[in-house]
Amino acid sequence: MKALRSAIWLALVASLALRALAQGVSTPAQHQLREIYKELVEINTSDSAGSCTAAAEAMAARLRAGGLAAQDVQVIVPPGGPKKGNLVARYRGTGAKKPVMLLGHLDVVEAKREDWQRDPFKLVEENGYFYARGAADDKAMVAVFIANLIRYRQEGYRPGRDVILVATCDEEIVPSNFSGIVYLLKNHRDLVDAEFALNEGGNGLLDKNGHYLSMTIQAGEKVFQTYQLEVTNPGGHSSLPVKDNAIYHLAGGLARLAAHDFPFRLSDTTRAYFEQMSRIETGQTAADMKAILRDPPDPEAIARLSMTALNNSTFRTTCVATMLEAGHATNALPQRARATVNCRILPGEPVADVQKTLARVMANDKIKITPTHEPTLSPPPPLTREIVGPVEAVSSQMWPGVPVVPTLLAGATDGRFTINAGIPTYGVNGMFRDSDGGGVHGLNERIRVRSLYEGHEFLYRLVKLYAGGS
Ligand SMILES: [Zn+2]
Repeated sequence: MKALRSAIWLALVASLALRALAQGVSTPAQHQLREIYKELVEINTSDSAGSCTAAAEAMAARLRAGGLAAQDVQVIVPPGGPKKGNLVARYRGTGAKKPVMLLGHLDVVEAKREDWQRDPFKLVEENGYFYARGAADDKAMVAVFIANLIRYRQEGYRPGRDVILVATCDEEIVPSNFSGIVYLLKNHRDLVDAEFALNEGGNGLLDKNGHYLSMTIQAGEKVFQTYQLEVTNPGGHSSLPVKDNAIYHLAGGLARLAAHDFPFRLSDTTRAYFEQMSRIETGQTAADMKAILRDPPDPEAIARLSMTALNNSTFRTTCVATMLEAGHATNALPQRARATVNCRILPGEPVADVQKTLARVMANDKIKITPTHEPTLSPPPPLTREIVGPVEAVSSQMWPGVPVVPTLLAGATDGRFTINAGIPTYGVNGMFRDSDGGGVHGLNERIRVRSLYEGHEFLYRLVKLYAGGS
């Protein structure tokens, strides 16, 4: 009964907090977060024109001003990459347990002003959304981590273990010689060593009307592998064209790739995912999710679910053309045509098989296929009670009745490196994302104002549960 009363009390407190959020009332902690978030978003950290080092320095200054010991806040710049700085900060606990890592990245995907409706490096609040490159990926989470460490310090919180913030550069660039997480794991393992890590990749999901569908915890990610497709040709004068044309060869292969679907396959995680989601969804979608769980799965249900990018990426490997480059003059036949094809491979599926499939789909020996880097394999981390329990507890306080769903991430994050280094890494942030993905990596990236503040509160409580202490 006491437990029930306190559960009701917590639900009441949570609903009041959510109502305050909905009405745009902000607390001093939220005000502080917003300032940090705005500063971080407005420092361009794209590869072409930006600097992670500038962002790392600015955030380091925030942490020191917020009361963290100066020697516990470090900006680590890899040799040869003056703009590729990383931020590592240690919030000291009693040391009773091994540290927990809060992992995020400072860099963002390129954003061209002329393609965007608004300046991508200016924080714009409009109709309940924040718009900016990095508004969600991943500056929301990094800003929240920083704001919460300062909030803990202001409260005099002493955790039962160190809490390590690791904000990296070049997470978005694969491969990169300046991958912050790779550099830190290799050269500063003592600074970043942890029992487990919290990371991006576990956004909650909203339906089309903005209602909460599911709180996700990401355990495992697809393997990221990029290929270069290339056709070379002697070329010649464009007034005397021949059928043997580098651009046409490549374009034909890409058109076949566009029409190709890799095979449908479920794992334990994705099976659990569709089981949970079939209870959340309604109508045809729910029926289809049940139908793909049967043996054999219903091919028409697969086809219908495949129309949604998230479902499609959850149950199959995908390969998509992302860049094109061809020709050297308007009046010359092309001597070279190149495409970049990016694949996201289901865990357990041999990477070499994917290249064979690509070759079969291209069906043209003139198209040479080369992997651009070595893949980093990433086995899913175990979903233990110690990890899942606190997520479920805070989630049920804040969003009673919304199920916690384990997911496989279609994207790739720094988590694959930490997992490979023996630090189990989980994607969870309590920030709910619109069903269309919120423009992450694309145009007009956005996050609901409400979602940023909810993630702020969620991670504040969750990290406390993991870190213990008083
Ligand atoms: Zn990211």
